[in-house]
Amino acid sequence: MAISDHVDLPTFMEGVKRRNPHQDEFVQAVQEVAEDIFEFIADKEEYHEQQILRRIAEPDRIVSFRVCWEDDSGNIRVQRGWRVQNNNAIGPYKGGIRFHPSVNESVLKFLAFEQTFKNALTGLPMGGGKGGSNFNPKGKSVREIMRFCQSFMTELYRHIGADVDVPAGDIGVGGREIGYMFGQYKRITNQFTGVLTGKGLEYGGSMIRPEATGYGAVYFLLNMLQHKEQDLHGKVAVISGSGNVATHAAEKIVQLGGKPVTLSDSGGFIYDPDGLTQDKIDWVKAHKTHRRGRISEYVEEFKGATFHEGQTPWNVPCDVALPCATQNELLGPDAKALVANGCIAVSEGANMPSNLDAVHAFKDAKIMFAPGKAANAGGVAVSGLEMSQNSERRAWKEEELQAMLRDIMDGIHARCLTYGEMGGGYTDYVRGANIAGFKKVADAMLAFGVV
Ligand code: NDP
Repeated sequence: MAISDHVDLPTFMEGVKRRNPHQDEFVQAVQEVAEDIFEFIADKEEYHEQQILRRIAEPDRIVSFRVCWEDDSGNIRVQRGWRVQNNNAIGPYKGGIRFHPSVNESVLKFLAFEQTFKNALTGLPMGGGKGGSNFNPKGKSVREIMRFCQSFMTELYRHIGADVDVPAGDIGVGGREIGYMFGQYKRITNQFTGVLTGKGLEYGGSMIRPEATGYGAVYFLLNMLQHKEQDLHGKVAVISGSGNVATHAAEKIVQLGGKPVTLSDSGGFIYDPDGLTQDKIDWVKAHKTHRRGRISEYVEEFKGATFHEGQTPWNVPCDVALPCATQNELLGPDAKALVANGCIAVSEGANMPSNLDAVHAFKDAKIMFAPGKAANAGGVAVSGLEMSQNSERRAWKEEELQAMLRDIMDGIHARCLTYGEMGGGYTDYVRGANIAGFKKVADAMLAFGVV
C-alpha cells in the first residue's frame, strides 16, 4: 500500500506546517488549494501514489542572496533577495519580483505556489515562480532605486533566462525598476533576450501589459456577472489599493459603465460618493507613481471625497468589490460586512487578499467570488504574450492584444466552470480554479515520472 493511502487533509496539512515553520502565508495558500484538491483526487489513485500535491507544495528551489548597495549619503546598506522557483512542469518559471519591507521567504513561497496554478489556468506554457527583496522603495531617490536594482540583478542574473525563469513586476516593481534590472542583465550577459517582462515598449515590452492585471480582473468579474445574466452597468464598486492593479481595475469599471467609489493605500482609504472618473484615476496614477504621493491627498484635490485613516474600505456598501492591494487585507468580518451590505461579486486583483475566514464567508454566502489565481491572471497572461513577441522578435498590435487578453480571461472563466459548477446555479470559482490549475500541472508531472 502506498504511504499516501494513509494521508488525509489534516495529516497532510500537519506535514506542511511542520516542514515550513513560521511560514503562515505559505501554509495558508497550500491549505486553500488542498481543501479542494483532496476532494478531487479522492478517487484518483495515481495523483496520490505519485505524491503530486506534496511535490507541487515543495518548491523546486529557493535562491536567497545578499544585496548590498550604497545610499545617497554613502552608507552601505544590506538587503536580502530571493527567487523561489516553484514548478516548471509546463513551462519556464514565471512570476513577478516584489520590493516591499514585508517580503520574506514565506510570502514569496506562497506567491510562487499560487503562481503555479494561475499560470496553468491561462492556458499558456508557463511554470510558477516569484522573487523579491525586503528593500523598501518608499522614500528612496531614483538613483538609490537604480543602484539597488542593479545590485539585485548582479546576483539574480545567474538564475534566470528566457527559457529558464522570466521575472516581471509586482508590488514596488514597475516599468522603471524593470528597465534598470533589464539594463543590468544585458550589461552582464551581453544578451538581449526576453528575460524579463513588463519592459518598456522601446525595448521589447508589450502593449497593454501595465493595464492587463486590472483590466483582466474586471473582465473576469464581468464574466461572472454575465453568467448570471447581469452586467456592470450602474454597479457601485469598492476597490482597495491605488497602485497598478487598482487604478487599472477602476479604469475598466468606468469604461464598462460601473462606478468605483473607493481606493486605498497602507495609510487608509478614500471614499468618493460621486464615483471616480477617468480624470480622477489619471490624477491618482500620476500622484502615486511620479509624485510618489499618498492617497489621502485625493480629498484635497477632489471635493466631496473623504479620507478614512487606518481603515480598509470593506464597510462601504457596494454591488461588487475588488481587493487590489496586498495579501490578507480582507478578513472574515470584512467579508461578512460586504455580504450584509449587498455585495454580490468579489474579484481578487491582488494575490490572496482574502484570508481563509473571508473565503469561507463568501463561499457560505454563495456570492460570486473569484480568487486571485483566476481573476488576476491577465497580467501574467500578457507577460506570456510578451515572451512570445520577444521570441518572434515582433510587436503585436494593441487591438490584437486586447482581444487575446479578453479571450484568455474567457478561457479561464470557462475552465473554472468545468470544475466549479455546484448545481442550483452556484459556481464555486475557488474550487474550479484550484482543480483546473492543478490538473494541468499534475498531468504534466505524471508524464515526467518521479523527478
Ligand atoms: P503596486 O506597488 O503598484 O501597488 C500596491 C498598492 O497596494 C499600493 O496602493 C500600496 O499602498 C497598497 N498596499 C501595499 N501594502 C499594503 C498594505 N499592507 N495595506 C494596504 N495597502 C497596501 O502593486 P500592484 O498593483 O502591482 O500589486 C497589487 C497586488 O496585485 C499584489 O497582491 C500583487 O501581487 C498583485 N498582482 C499584481 C500583478 C501586476 O501585474 N502588477 C499581477 C498579478 C497580481 P502603499 O503605497 O501605501 O504601499
